[in-house]
Amino acid sequence: MSCSETATGSLILVLGSRNRKKCREMAELIRPTWEPSRRLDRLAIGTLDEFPDAPEVDESAETFAGNARKKAAELARALDRWVLADDSGLTVDALQGAPGVLSARYAGEPCDDAANNRKLVEAISAVPDDRRGAAFRCALAVADPLGQIRLEAAAACRGRIIREPRGTAGFGYDPLFLIPEYHKTFGELSPLVKHQLSHRSRAFTHLRPGLERLIDEVLSGGS
Ligand code: IMP
Repeated sequence: MSCSETATGSLILVLGSRNRKKCREMAELIRPTWEPSRRLDRLAIGTLDEFPDAPEVDESAETFAGNARKKAAELARALDRWVLADDSGLTVDALQGAPGVLSARYAGEPCDDAANNRKLVEAISAVPDDRRGAAFRCALAVADPLGQIRLEAAAACRGRIIREPRGTAGFGYDPLFLIPEYHKTFGELSPLVKHQLSHRSRAFTHLRPGLERLIDEVLSGGS
């Protein structure tokens, strides 16, 4: 048995993020209750909380996909485990795609969601209501314990940025991100509704078939 498997034959997959709220969404989306899968039940999900010595990865790539690959590969090598990384963020049309890959650090470090939201409200305060389009984007990457990228997926979810935060659900820019069809922000919608619509849930929908194949391959001794 390798250290990537449990004694009961599950594949250990570590979620490569220290953002607990994001990790909770990832754990819910990897095997959603509305789409049961016996293969995905053979995953044992781990978090970085179990690996206090895991390195901080410098998110220096220019794209979400590049950062997701970098986080997955560097953490997988350091931990000698399979790692799933998510790099995500908000791209605002009126800001030519900013804050983009800098979303978490938009108002500087340490990362502060409330400060990021205040900065965004201010940055587009003069933008009229009909030009406030934006997209949440998510890139996922799975690396094997050697740091090789074995799976990737990406998706986006469009909405509009409102003038004042609304709601306390979710995290990050959720209270400012309006889903026009629902007249509500992700901060006001329940996690279940966010999970039907979000960039992250769409990326996981693309990832799951490959993940199921990979689980079969690894647990049958193929790699
Ligand atoms: P990362 O950990 O470098 O990928 O940073 C992601 C950042 O993008 C978060 O800190 C949030 O500011 C933002 N973000 C990503 N996904 C979401 C989401 O689902 N809701 C709200 N903000 C998000």
